[in-house]
Amino acid sequence: MEMALETRNFINGNFINSISKQNIRVLNPANQIEVGFVDEALDDEIELAFEAASNSFRNRVLQDMDSVKKSNFLRSIAKKLREYKVYGAQILSKENGKTLLQCEGEFEGAASVFDYYAGITDKIENKLIPSGKDTFNYVTLEPYGVSLQIIPWNYPISLFARSVAVSLVVGNTIVIKPPELCPISSNIFGKIFYEIQLPPGLVNIVHGYGEITGKKLVSHKKVNQVVFTGSTEVASEILKETADRIIPCHLELGGKSAAIICSDANIDQAVESTINGIYRPNAGQICVAMSRVIIHPSIKSEYMDKLTSETANLSIGPGENNNSDVTPLISKEQLKRVSNYCKSGVQTGANLVIGGEEFNYDKGNYYKPTIFDNVDKNSTIAQDEIFGPIAVVLDFETDEEAIDIINSTEYGLASGIFTSNDLKAKWMADRIEAGIVWHNDWFVDGVNLPGGGYKKSGYGRDGGLDSLYSYGQTKRVSKRLRY
Ligand code: NAD
Repeated sequence: MEMALETRNFINGNFINSISKQNIRVLNPANQIEVGFVDEALDDEIELAFEAASNSFRNRVLQDMDSVKKSNFLRSIAKKLREYKVYGAQILSKENGKTLLQCEGEFEGAASVFDYYAGITDKIENKLIPSGKDTFNYVTLEPYGVSLQIIPWNYPISLFARSVAVSLVVGNTIVIKPPELCPISSNIFGKIFYEIQLPPGLVNIVHGYGEITGKKLVSHKKVNQVVFTGSTEVASEILKETADRIIPCHLELGGKSAAIICSDANIDQAVESTINGIYRPNAGQICVAMSRVIIHPSIKSEYMDKLTSETANLSIGPGENNNSDVTPLISKEQLKRVSNYCKSGVQTGANLVIGGEEFNYDKGNYYKPTIFDNVDKNSTIAQDEIFGPIAVVLDFETDEEAIDIINSTEYGLASGIFTSNDLKAKWMADRIEAGIVWHNDWFVDGVNLPGGGYKKSGYGRDGGLDSLYSYGQTKRVSKRLRY
């Protein structure tokens, strides 16, 4: 499917011509060739976007929309996402670096999210709470109003879908900023909203740099909720900026997720999960990457041998080749950051088992899949989110020690337990401080399953029915009955 890339901001139901006359150039991380650009939204565009979102909220377009009609809109979005997934994946792969197959999967996953939420528009049942013979109380789920949503570059299509779909069900109108490093593919949503004639103002897409447009958006007086997916540092800035206005924030942040591999684990399963958890998905640039492995010494040598030999066999290459196991990092800055972390690992005495250097191919931002062993649990490489194909391995003797290590970072996003003993797995799951615990596999997921962070990985839940209550607030109506 050949179509011109849409570069404009999508506001009040239409792509609008640039007012700021500024744009943002986008580079392909595999070769530094320019993919295209998007218009930068500055004050005028931002004002128009909030006006549109605010008007459609005040006019109760979503709150009063018939649930079947709303469901049909969501299903139409899902259908169009599937229609455009091959075309969309080509753009996403070029600007993000992931393989075409992973990018198609992202569009398919986004479609499933819209399908799932399409199915619940008429199933949200409010509560009736008794409190006496002449009273009754009911509790309804209500939207916040204008929801500002800010998206990172690693999974821009999935994250757009997960926040927008549930917001539309609950009734928030949206101003959303895709990531500046890979914004073009998100315009497919604008194209779809236009084609299905989604009422104007419900979702407004504005592009810009975080430091400029992002800050302006967060400080806008019409924001009623902030949904932020990104780094913990930026989340903290957003919280400070919104504190005086008491704006509810929903935060999906970074992680340093770990797997505990017990002595009775299926080693092949654990090795496969490690490869799929830290290298294959987007070169480890995924919030729930298996970036730490906590392993019992009794099985360590077999695990390490298998992991090292499988790691050595991974192919490093561009996303346009679906056989590439490890694709480029998003930018030269990210490559430098990952490289500096690895240097610090070596300096602090960790044992570099494999990798630990850049991979030169066609000017791409490639870093070799890397394993560090004998890592101090308090060292930087064991504590910080590196966001690259870097696995660090730590040992444990007792189950208590494994729990101590897994909980030793400031993060608490995902985690894993590899053991054939269900009782032990339950004991560990009860003690792990993370929003997701996977048992015997990394990435057991689905659109109906909630996820989110503990500690500095954020708060609020995305996915499933739990998400509804992260995107809305309840209202109680209490009545005294009289003759
Ligand atoms: P980032 O925080 O640098 O940027 C995220 C978004 O925030 C971008 O759109 C950016 O333009 C914007 N932004 C930057 N500074 C801003 C500011 N001062 N005010 C307002 N907006 C601003 O993160 P990133 O590098 O794009 O993404 C990687 C991070 O996202 C990692 O920490 C990763 O773990 C996290 N992440 C978390 C989840 C999750 O569900 N928990 C999912 C994906 C990514």
